Amino acid sequence: MSDDVKPVGVAVLGLGNVGSEVVRIIKDSADDLAARIGAPLALRGIGVRRVAPDRGVPVELLTDKVEELVSREDVDIVVELMGPVEPSRKAILTALEHGKSVVTANKALLSTSTGELAQAAENAQVDLYFEAAVAGAIPVIRPLTQSLAGDTVVRVAGIVNGTTNYILSAMDSTGTDYESALADASALGYAEADPTADVEGYDAAAKAAILASIAFHTRVTADDVYREGITKITPADFATAHALGCNIKLLSICERITGDDGQERVSARVYPALVPLTHPLATVSGAFNAVVVEAEAAGRLMFYGQGAGGAPTASAVLGDLVMAARNRVLGSRGPKESKYAQLPIAPMGLISTRYYVSMNVADRPGVLSSVAAEFAKREVSIAEVRQEGVEDGGRRVGARIVVVTHSATDAALSETVDALADLDAVLGVASVLRLEGSGI
Ligand code: NAP
Repeated sequence: MSDDVKPVGVAVLGLGNVGSEVVRIIKDSADDLAARIGAPLALRGIGVRRVAPDRGVPVELLTDKVEELVSREDVDIVVELMGPVEPSRKAILTALEHGKSVVTANKALLSTSTGELAQAAENAQVDLYFEAAVAGAIPVIRPLTQSLAGDTVVRVAGIVNGTTNYILSAMDSTGTDYESALADASALGYAEADPTADVEGYDAAAKAAILASIAFHTRVTADDVYREGITKITPADFATAHALGCNIKLLSICERITGDDGQERVSARVYPALVPLTHPLATVSGAFNAVVVEAEAAGRLMFYGQGAGGAPTASAVLGDLVMAARNRVLGSRGPKESKYAQLPIAPMGLISTRYYVSMNVADRPGVLSSVAAEFAKREVSIAEVRQEGVEDGGRRVGARIVVVTHSATDAALSETVDALADLDAVLGVASVLRLEGSGI
Protein backbone atom coordinates (compact mmCIF):
# COMPACT_ATOMS: atom_id res chain seq x y z
CA MET A 1 0.00 0.00 0.00
CA SER A 2 1.52 3.31 -0.98
CA ASP A 3 2.31 5.85 1.72
CA ASP A 4 0.01 8.47 0.22
CA VAL A 5 -3.16 6.45 0.99
CA LYS A 6 -5.15 8.51 3.45
CA PRO A 7 -5.79 6.61 6.69
CA VAL A 8 -9.34 6.13 8.01
CA GLY A 9 -9.57 7.93 11.37
CA VAL A 10 -11.30 5.97 14.15
CA ALA A 11 -12.52 7.06 17.59
CA VAL A 12 -13.45 4.32 20.05
CA LEU A 13 -15.79 5.27 22.90
CA GLY A 14 -15.31 2.90 25.84
CA LEU A 15 -12.35 0.82 26.96
CA GLY A 16 -14.19 -1.86 28.90
CA ASN A 17 -14.77 -5.55 28.08
CA VAL A 18 -15.48 -4.92 24.40
CA GLY A 19 -13.66 -1.62 23.79
CA SER A 20 -10.32 -2.91 25.06
CA GLU A 21 -10.55 -5.94 22.73
CA VAL A 22 -11.47 -3.74 19.78
CA VAL A 23 -8.48 -1.46 20.48
CA ARG A 24 -6.20 -4.49 20.81
CA ILE A 25 -7.31 -5.98 17.49
CA ILE A 26 -6.99 -2.62 15.69
CA LYS A 27 -3.37 -2.51 16.92
CA ASP A 28 -2.40 -6.20 16.59
CA SER A 29 -3.99 -6.75 13.16
CA ALA A 30 -3.19 -3.34 11.68
CA ASP A 31 -1.57 -4.68 8.50
CA ASP A 32 -4.28 -7.24 7.74
CA LEU A 33 -7.04 -4.74 8.40
CA ALA A 34 -5.34 -2.15 6.16
CA ALA A 35 -5.09 -4.72 3.35
CA ARG A 36 -8.76 -5.65 3.69
CA ILE A 37 -9.94 -2.04 3.85
CA GLY A 38 -7.57 -0.56 1.26
CA ALA A 39 -6.30 2.01 3.77
CA PRO A 40 -4.84 1.85 7.27
CA LEU A 41 -6.98 2.55 10.33
CA ALA A 42 -5.65 5.39 12.50
CA LEU A 43 -6.87 5.31 16.10
CA ARG A 44 -7.40 9.01 16.93
CA GLY A 45 -8.64 8.67 20.49
CA ILE A 46 -10.49 6.58 23.07
CA GLY A 47 -13.32 7.99 25.15
CA VAL A 48 -13.38 6.88 28.80
CA ARG A 49 -14.43 8.22 32.18
CA ARG A 50 -11.10 7.56 33.89
CA VAL A 51 -8.11 8.99 32.06
CA ALA A 52 -5.02 7.36 33.59
CA PRO A 53 -1.65 5.97 32.48
CA ASP A 54 -2.38 2.43 33.77
CA ARG A 55 -4.99 1.48 31.16
CA GLY A 56 -2.81 -0.48 28.75
CA VAL A 57 -2.98 2.12 25.97
CA PRO A 58 -0.95 5.30 25.40
CA VAL A 59 -2.46 7.82 27.83
CA GLU A 60 -2.43 10.55 25.16
CA LEU A 61 -5.12 8.58 23.29
CA LEU A 62 -7.50 8.74 26.26
CA THR A 63 -10.03 11.48 26.80
CA ASP A 64 -13.11 12.03 28.91
CA LYS A 65 -14.31 14.70 26.46
CA VAL A 66 -16.36 12.38 24.31
CA GLU A 67 -18.28 15.09 22.44
CA GLU A 68 -15.02 16.74 21.37
CA LEU A 69 -13.52 13.45 20.24
CA VAL A 70 -16.47 12.47 18.03
CA SER A 71 -16.47 15.89 16.33
CA ARG A 72 -12.77 15.94 15.42
CA GLU A 73 -12.05 16.53 11.75
CA ASP A 74 -9.60 13.64 11.52
CA VAL A 75 -12.19 11.11 12.77
CA ASP A 76 -14.14 9.28 10.05
CA ILE A 77 -15.74 6.48 12.08
CA VAL A 78 -16.93 6.42 15.69
CA VAL A 79 -17.15 3.04 17.45
CA GLU A 80 -19.49 3.41 20.42
CA LEU A 81 -18.87 0.83 23.19
CA MET A 82 -19.79 2.73 26.34
CA GLY A 83 -23.20 1.26 27.06
CA PRO A 84 -26.20 2.72 28.63
CA VAL A 85 -28.52 4.88 26.62
CA GLU A 86 -26.93 8.18 27.69
CA PRO A 87 -24.36 9.56 27.00
CA SER A 88 -24.09 7.12 24.08
CA ARG A 89 -27.17 8.46 22.28
CA LYS A 90 -25.91 12.04 22.39
CA ALA A 91 -22.39 11.05 21.31
CA ILE A 92 -23.70 9.01 18.36
CA LEU A 93 -26.02 11.80 17.23
CA THR A 94 -23.17 14.33 17.42
CA ALA A 95 -20.93 11.96 15.43
CA LEU A 96 -23.59 11.43 12.75
CA GLU A 97 -24.34 15.15 12.54
CA HIS A 98 -20.61 15.69 11.92
CA GLY A 99 -20.67 13.18 9.06
CA LYS A 100 -18.96 10.28 10.84
CA SER A 101 -20.07 6.72 10.25
CA VAL A 102 -21.00 4.92 13.46
CA VAL A 103 -20.57 1.36 14.70
CA THR A 104 -22.27 0.47 17.97
CA ALA A 105 -23.04 -2.60 20.13
CA ASN A 106 -25.58 -0.71 22.22
CA LYS A 107 -28.78 -2.80 22.09
CA ALA A 108 -30.49 -0.84 24.87
CA LEU A 109 -30.11 2.35 22.84
CA LEU A 110 -30.99 0.81 19.49
CA SER A 111 -34.14 -0.82 20.80
CA THR A 112 -35.55 2.56 21.80
CA SER A 113 -33.95 5.01 19.37
CA THR A 114 -33.23 3.26 16.07
CA GLY A 115 -35.55 5.65 14.23
CA GLU A 116 -33.79 8.77 15.47
CA LEU A 117 -30.32 7.34 14.85
CA ALA A 118 -31.19 5.94 11.42
CA GLN A 119 -32.67 9.29 10.38
CA ALA A 120 -29.52 11.12 11.48
CA ALA A 121 -27.39 8.63 9.50
CA GLU A 122 -29.65 9.15 6.50
CA ASN A 123 -29.42 12.94 6.74
CA ALA A 124 -25.63 12.72 6.81
CA GLN A 125 -25.48 9.90 4.20
CA VAL A 126 -23.23 7.79 6.42
CA ASP A 127 -23.29 4.24 7.77
CA LEU A 128 -24.83 3.09 11.05
CA TYR A 129 -23.85 -0.52 11.78
CA PHE A 130 -24.72 -2.63 14.84
CA GLU A 131 -23.97 -6.32 14.21
CA ALA A 132 -22.62 -6.71 17.79
CA ALA A 133 -25.86 -5.49 19.40
CA VAL A 134 -27.55 -8.89 18.94
CA ALA A 135 -25.97 -12.23 19.85
CA GLY A 136 -22.35 -11.05 20.20
CA ALA A 137 -20.07 -12.79 17.72
CA ILE A 138 -22.89 -14.44 15.79
CA PRO A 139 -23.50 -12.84 12.39
CA VAL A 140 -27.26 -12.34 12.27
CA ILE A 141 -27.87 -8.67 11.42
CA ARG A 142 -25.89 -8.80 8.17
CA PRO A 143 -27.44 -12.09 7.00
CA LEU A 144 -30.89 -10.56 7.58
CA THR A 145 -30.14 -7.19 5.95
CA GLN A 146 -27.98 -8.43 3.09
CA SER A 147 -27.82 -12.20 2.46
CA LEU A 148 -31.61 -12.55 2.79
CA ALA A 149 -32.42 -9.18 1.19
CA GLY A 150 -34.15 -10.95 -1.70
CA ASP A 151 -36.11 -13.44 0.39
CA THR A 152 -39.12 -13.04 2.68
CA VAL A 153 -38.34 -13.72 6.32
CA VAL A 154 -41.28 -15.19 8.19
CA ARG A 155 -39.79 -15.94 11.58
CA VAL A 156 -36.70 -15.28 13.68
CA ALA A 157 -36.52 -17.18 16.95
CA GLY A 158 -33.61 -17.58 19.24
CA ILE A 159 -31.79 -17.71 22.50
CA VAL A 160 -30.12 -14.31 22.63
CA ASN A 161 -29.31 -13.88 26.31
CA GLY A 162 -26.38 -15.90 27.63
CA THR A 163 -27.01 -15.21 31.32
CA THR A 164 -30.52 -16.66 31.35
CA ASN A 165 -29.46 -19.57 29.17
CA TYR A 166 -26.68 -20.32 31.63
CA ILE A 167 -29.15 -20.25 34.56
CA LEU A 168 -31.76 -22.40 32.79
CA SER A 169 -29.08 -24.88 31.64
CA ALA A 170 -27.87 -25.22 35.23
CA MET A 171 -31.44 -25.81 36.47
CA ASP A 172 -31.94 -28.35 33.70
CA SER A 173 -28.78 -30.35 34.31
CA THR A 174 -28.52 -30.22 38.12
CA GLY A 175 -32.14 -29.88 39.26
CA THR A 176 -31.19 -26.82 41.30
CA ASP A 177 -33.63 -23.97 41.92
CA TYR A 178 -33.60 -20.55 40.26
CA GLU A 179 -31.99 -18.67 43.19
CA SER A 180 -29.05 -21.11 43.48
CA ALA A 181 -28.48 -21.14 39.73
CA LEU A 182 -28.47 -17.31 39.68
CA ALA A 183 -26.00 -17.20 42.60
CA ASP A 184 -23.75 -19.60 40.69
CA ALA A 185 -23.99 -17.52 37.52
CA SER A 186 -23.05 -14.38 39.49
CA ALA A 187 -20.09 -16.08 41.15
CA LEU A 188 -18.79 -17.17 37.75
CA GLY A 189 -19.25 -13.72 36.19
CA TYR A 190 -22.13 -14.74 33.90
CA ALA A 191 -24.62 -12.47 35.69
CA GLU A 192 -24.31 -8.76 36.51
CA ALA A 193 -24.50 -7.47 40.10
CA ASP A 194 -28.04 -6.33 39.19
CA PRO A 195 -29.32 -9.14 36.95
CA THR A 196 -32.76 -7.58 36.31
CA ALA A 197 -32.17 -6.70 32.65
CA ASP A 198 -31.25 -10.30 31.90
CA VAL A 199 -33.54 -12.38 34.14
CA GLU A 200 -36.65 -10.27 33.54
CA GLY A 201 -36.13 -10.51 29.77
CA TYR A 202 -35.45 -6.80 29.05
CA ASP A 203 -32.15 -7.54 27.28
CA ALA A 204 -33.73 -10.28 25.17
CA ALA A 205 -36.65 -7.93 24.39
CA ALA A 206 -34.27 -5.20 23.20
CA LYS A 207 -32.66 -7.72 20.85
CA ALA A 208 -36.05 -8.99 19.67
CA ALA A 209 -37.01 -5.40 18.78
CA ILE A 210 -33.83 -5.01 16.70
CA LEU A 211 -34.30 -8.38 14.97
CA ALA A 212 -37.99 -7.80 14.23
CA SER A 213 -37.29 -4.33 12.80
CA ILE A 214 -34.75 -5.70 10.37
CA ALA A 215 -36.49 -8.94 9.48
CA PHE A 216 -39.85 -7.32 8.75
CA HIS A 217 -38.85 -3.86 7.44
CA THR A 218 -40.85 -2.25 10.24
CA ARG A 219 -39.76 -0.13 13.15
CA VAL A 220 -40.25 -2.17 16.32
CA THR A 221 -39.17 -0.80 19.71
CA ALA A 222 -38.61 -2.59 23.02
CA ASP A 223 -42.03 -1.32 24.20
CA ASP A 224 -43.69 -3.29 21.37
CA VAL A 225 -42.20 -6.56 22.62
CA TYR A 226 -44.25 -8.76 24.97
CA ARG A 227 -41.94 -9.87 27.76
CA GLU A 228 -41.77 -12.42 30.57
CA GLY A 229 -38.61 -13.35 32.48
CA ILE A 230 -37.35 -16.60 34.00
CA THR A 231 -37.60 -15.81 37.73
CA LYS A 232 -40.70 -17.96 38.30
CA ILE A 233 -39.35 -21.13 36.69
CA THR A 234 -39.14 -23.96 39.24
CA PRO A 235 -37.48 -27.38 39.39
CA ALA A 236 -41.05 -28.80 39.12
CA ASP A 237 -41.41 -27.08 35.72
CA PHE A 238 -38.21 -28.75 34.57
CA ALA A 239 -39.39 -32.13 35.89
CA THR A 240 -42.60 -31.81 33.86
CA ALA A 241 -40.69 -30.50 30.82
CA HIS A 242 -38.44 -33.56 30.97
CA ALA A 243 -41.43 -35.87 31.29
CA LEU A 244 -42.84 -34.25 28.14
CA GLY A 245 -39.53 -34.65 26.25
CA CYS A 246 -38.76 -30.92 26.45
CA ASN A 247 -36.27 -28.42 27.82
CA ILE A 248 -37.09 -24.88 29.02
CA LYS A 249 -35.49 -21.96 27.18
CA LEU A 250 -35.95 -18.18 27.23
CA LEU A 251 -36.95 -17.52 23.63
CA SER A 252 -37.07 -14.29 21.65
CA ILE A 253 -39.60 -14.85 18.89
CA CYS A 254 -40.26 -12.45 16.01
CA GLU A 255 -42.94 -13.50 13.53
CA ARG A 256 -44.88 -12.15 10.61
CA ILE A 257 -48.44 -13.36 11.16
CA THR A 258 -51.61 -13.01 9.13
CA GLY A 259 -54.80 -12.57 11.17
CA ASP A 260 -58.30 -13.78 10.33
CA ASP A 261 -58.89 -10.29 8.88
CA GLY A 262 -56.11 -10.92 6.32
CA GLN A 263 -53.94 -8.17 7.87
CA GLU A 264 -50.24 -8.97 8.20
CA ARG A 265 -48.77 -8.04 11.55
CA VAL A 266 -45.47 -8.34 13.39
CA SER A 267 -45.31 -10.22 16.65
CA ALA A 268 -42.25 -9.82 18.88
CA ARG A 269 -42.22 -11.61 22.20
CA VAL A 270 -39.90 -12.96 24.86
CA TYR A 271 -40.81 -15.68 27.34
CA PRO A 272 -39.57 -18.94 28.79
CA ALA A 273 -41.04 -21.82 26.81
CA LEU A 274 -40.96 -25.59 26.67
CA VAL A 275 -38.97 -26.62 23.59
CA PRO A 276 -39.01 -30.26 22.39
CA LEU A 277 -35.59 -31.90 22.71
CA THR A 278 -35.72 -32.65 18.99
CA HIS A 279 -35.59 -28.91 18.21
CA PRO A 280 -32.07 -27.49 17.70
CA LEU A 281 -32.66 -24.65 20.21
CA ALA A 282 -33.38 -27.15 23.01
CA THR A 283 -29.76 -28.27 23.21
CA VAL A 284 -28.10 -24.83 23.11
CA SER A 285 -26.59 -24.77 26.57
CA GLY A 286 -24.55 -22.62 28.92
CA ALA A 287 -23.86 -19.03 27.88
CA PHE A 288 -24.18 -19.81 24.16
CA ASN A 289 -26.67 -18.11 21.85
CA ALA A 290 -28.45 -19.39 18.77
CA VAL A 291 -30.86 -17.84 16.29
CA VAL A 292 -33.07 -19.72 13.87
CA VAL A 293 -34.23 -17.74 10.85
CA GLU A 294 -36.98 -19.01 8.60
CA ALA A 295 -37.45 -17.48 5.18
CA GLU A 296 -39.87 -18.42 2.41
CA ALA A 297 -37.27 -19.52 -0.15
CA ALA A 298 -34.26 -20.30 2.05
CA GLY A 299 -36.19 -22.41 4.56
CA ARG A 300 -34.69 -22.73 8.01
CA LEU A 301 -31.21 -21.38 8.83
CA MET A 302 -29.49 -21.64 12.18
CA PHE A 303 -26.76 -19.39 13.61
CA TYR A 304 -24.95 -20.52 16.73
CA GLY A 305 -22.02 -19.27 18.80
CA GLN A 306 -20.79 -17.02 21.57
CA GLY A 307 -23.35 -14.35 22.27
CA ALA A 308 -21.25 -12.19 24.59
CA GLY A 309 -17.77 -11.61 25.95
CA GLY A 310 -15.12 -9.05 25.05
CA ALA A 311 -13.34 -10.85 22.21
CA PRO A 312 -16.39 -12.47 20.53
CA THR A 313 -18.29 -9.17 20.59
CA ALA A 314 -15.20 -7.33 19.31
CA SER A 315 -15.16 -9.69 16.31
CA ALA A 316 -18.61 -8.44 15.27
CA VAL A 317 -17.61 -4.81 15.94
CA LEU A 318 -14.50 -5.20 13.79
CA GLY A 319 -16.57 -6.68 10.98
CA ASP A 320 -18.71 -3.54 11.01
CA LEU A 321 -15.66 -1.30 11.30
CA VAL A 322 -14.04 -2.88 8.25
CA MET A 323 -17.28 -2.51 6.25
CA ALA A 324 -17.71 1.13 7.26
CA ALA A 325 -14.03 1.88 6.51
CA ARG A 326 -14.22 0.20 3.08
CA ASN A 327 -17.25 2.32 2.28
CA ARG A 328 -15.33 5.44 3.31
CA VAL A 329 -12.40 4.49 1.07
CA LEU A 330 -14.73 3.76 -1.86
CA GLY A 331 -16.92 6.80 -1.20
CA SER A 332 -19.99 4.58 -0.86
CA ARG A 333 -22.53 3.56 1.79
CA GLY A 334 -23.96 0.30 3.02
CA PRO A 335 -27.71 -0.38 3.02
CA LYS A 336 -29.80 2.21 4.83
CA GLU A 337 -32.58 1.38 7.28
CA SER A 338 -35.44 -0.46 5.59
CA LYS A 339 -38.84 0.32 7.12
CA TYR A 340 -41.06 0.39 4.06
CA ALA A 341 -43.45 -2.38 5.21
CA GLN A 342 -44.54 -0.57 8.41
CA LEU A 343 -46.59 -3.53 9.59
CA PRO A 344 -48.72 -3.04 12.71
CA ILE A 345 -47.70 -4.81 15.91
CA ALA A 346 -49.86 -7.82 16.78
CA PRO A 347 -51.41 -7.67 20.25
CA MET A 348 -50.36 -10.63 22.40
CA GLY A 349 -53.98 -11.81 22.72
CA LEU A 350 -53.94 -12.77 19.02
CA ILE A 351 -50.89 -15.01 19.28
CA SER A 352 -51.56 -18.75 19.19
CA THR A 353 -49.28 -21.26 20.86
CA ARG A 354 -49.60 -24.46 22.80
CA TYR A 355 -49.59 -24.19 26.59
CA TYR A 356 -48.63 -26.15 29.63
CA VAL A 357 -50.61 -25.25 32.76
CA SER A 358 -49.72 -26.72 36.11
CA MET A 359 -52.01 -26.28 39.12
CA ASN A 360 -52.22 -27.52 42.68
CA VAL A 361 -55.65 -28.97 43.34
CA ALA A 362 -57.73 -30.45 46.11
CA ASP A 363 -57.11 -34.18 46.38
CA ARG A 364 -60.70 -35.35 45.82
CA PRO A 365 -62.80 -36.90 43.04
CA GLY A 366 -64.35 -34.70 40.31
CA VAL A 367 -61.60 -32.08 40.25
CA LEU A 368 -60.26 -33.14 36.87
CA SER A 369 -63.63 -32.79 35.17
CA SER A 370 -64.24 -29.29 36.59
CA VAL A 371 -60.77 -28.24 35.41
CA ALA A 372 -61.38 -29.72 31.94
CA ALA A 373 -64.72 -27.90 31.72
CA GLU A 374 -63.05 -24.48 32.07
CA PHE A 375 -60.77 -25.27 29.12
CA ALA A 376 -63.71 -26.54 27.05
CA LYS A 377 -65.84 -23.43 27.77
CA ARG A 378 -63.23 -21.26 26.04
CA GLU A 379 -62.55 -23.73 23.24
CA VAL A 380 -59.04 -24.43 24.44
CA SER A 381 -58.54 -28.00 23.38
CA ILE A 382 -56.60 -30.30 25.73
CA ALA A 383 -53.89 -32.52 24.23
CA GLU A 384 -52.65 -34.21 27.39
CA VAL A 385 -53.47 -34.28 31.13
CA ARG A 386 -51.36 -35.61 33.98
CA GLN A 387 -52.51 -35.91 37.54
CA GLU A 388 -49.77 -36.37 40.11
CA GLY A 389 -49.69 -36.72 43.86
CA VAL A 390 -47.73 -34.10 45.79
CA GLU A 391 -45.66 -35.63 48.56
CA ASP A 392 -43.93 -34.22 51.59
CA GLY A 393 -41.52 -36.53 53.41
CA GLY A 394 -43.04 -39.56 51.68
CA ARG A 395 -46.60 -38.57 52.72
CA ARG A 396 -49.19 -37.57 50.12
CA VAL A 397 -50.26 -33.99 50.94
CA GLY A 398 -52.12 -32.93 47.79
CA ALA A 399 -52.43 -33.32 44.06
CA ARG A 400 -51.22 -31.50 40.98
CA ILE A 401 -52.83 -31.43 37.55
CA VAL A 402 -50.74 -30.62 34.50
CA VAL A 403 -52.57 -29.81 31.28
CA VAL A 404 -50.95 -29.51 27.86
CA THR A 405 -53.17 -27.80 25.30
CA HIS A 406 -53.37 -27.75 21.55
CA SER A 407 -52.76 -24.38 19.92
CA ALA A 408 -54.92 -21.64 21.48
CA THR A 409 -54.85 -17.87 21.50
CA ASP A 410 -53.21 -16.08 24.38
CA ALA A 411 -56.54 -14.33 25.07
CA ALA A 412 -58.45 -17.62 25.43
CA LEU A 413 -55.76 -19.16 27.57
CA SER A 414 -55.51 -16.12 29.89
CA GLU A 415 -59.28 -16.21 30.45
CA THR A 416 -59.09 -19.93 31.20
CA VAL A 417 -56.30 -19.46 33.73
CA ASP A 418 -58.27 -16.69 35.50
CA ALA A 419 -61.30 -18.97 35.66
CA LEU A 420 -59.21 -21.90 36.98
CA ALA A 421 -57.79 -19.70 39.73
CA ASP A 422 -61.38 -18.97 40.84
CA LEU A 423 -62.35 -22.66 41.17
CA ASP A 424 -62.67 -23.94 44.75
CA ALA A 425 -60.93 -27.14 43.74
CA VAL A 426 -57.86 -25.31 42.42
CA LEU A 427 -55.59 -24.27 45.27
CA GLY A 428 -53.34 -22.29 42.94
CA VAL A 429 -52.13 -22.13 39.34
CA ALA A 430 -48.45 -22.88 39.80
CA SER A 431 -47.17 -22.34 36.28
CA VAL A 432 -48.27 -21.35 32.81
CA LEU A 433 -45.66 -21.89 30.14
CA ARG A 434 -45.90 -21.87 26.37
CA LEU A 435 -44.83 -24.85 24.37
CA GLU A 436 -42.98 -23.81 21.25
CA GLY A 437 -41.19 -25.91 18.74
CA SER A 438 -43.37 -27.07 15.92
CA GLY A 439 -43.37 -23.57 14.41
CA ILE A 440 -39.83 -22.44 15.24
P1 NAP B 1 -17.98 -1.94 30.11
O1 NAP B 1 -16.98 -3.02 30.32
O2 NAP B 1 -18.80 -1.50 31.26
O3 NAP B 1 -17.19 -0.66 29.55
C1 NAP B 1 -17.78 0.57 29.34
C2 NAP B 1 -16.71 1.56 28.94
O4 NAP B 1 -17.36 2.79 28.60
C3 NAP B 1 -15.70 1.87 30.04
O5 NAP B 1 -14.40 1.90 29.52
C4 NAP B 1 -16.12 3.25 30.54
O6 NAP B 1 -15.04 4.06 30.94
C5 NAP B 1 -16.74 3.85 29.30
N1 NAP B 1 -17.75 4.84 29.64
C6 NAP B 1 -18.93 4.62 30.29
N2 NAP B 1 -19.58 5.78 30.46
C7 NAP B 1 -18.80 6.74 29.92
C8 NAP B 1 -18.92 8.14 29.80
N3 NAP B 1 -19.98 8.80 30.30
N4 NAP B 1 -17.92 8.82 29.19
C9 NAP B 1 -16.85 8.17 28.72
N5 NAP B 1 -16.68 6.84 28.81
C10 NAP B 1 -17.65 6.13 29.40
O7 NAP B 1 -19.00 -2.31 28.94
P2 NAP B 1 -18.86 -3.47 27.85
O8 NAP B 1 -19.20 -4.78 28.47
O9 NAP B 1 -17.55 -3.34 27.15
O10 NAP B 1 -20.07 -3.12 26.86
C11 NAP B 1 -19.98 -2.02 25.98
C12 NAP B 1 -21.21 -2.01 25.07
O11 NAP B 1 -21.24 -3.22 24.30
C13 NAP B 1 -22.56 -1.95 25.79
O12 NAP B 1 -23.47 -1.20 25.01
C14 NAP B 1 -23.01 -3.39 25.83
O13 NAP B 1 -24.42 -3.52 25.91
C15 NAP B 1 -22.50 -3.86 24.48
N6 NAP B 1 -22.28 -5.31 24.43
C16 NAP B 1 -21.48 -5.90 25.35
C17 NAP B 1 -21.27 -7.26 25.29
C18 NAP B 1 -20.38 -7.95 26.29
O14 NAP B 1 -20.27 -9.19 26.23
N7 NAP B 1 -19.75 -7.25 27.21
C19 NAP B 1 -21.90 -8.03 24.27
C20 NAP B 1 -22.69 -7.38 23.33
C21 NAP B 1 -22.87 -5.99 23.42
P3 NAP B 1 -14.13 3.72 32.23
O15 NAP B 1 -13.39 2.48 31.83
O16 NAP B 1 -13.24 4.89 32.39
O17 NAP B 1 -15.09 3.50 33.35
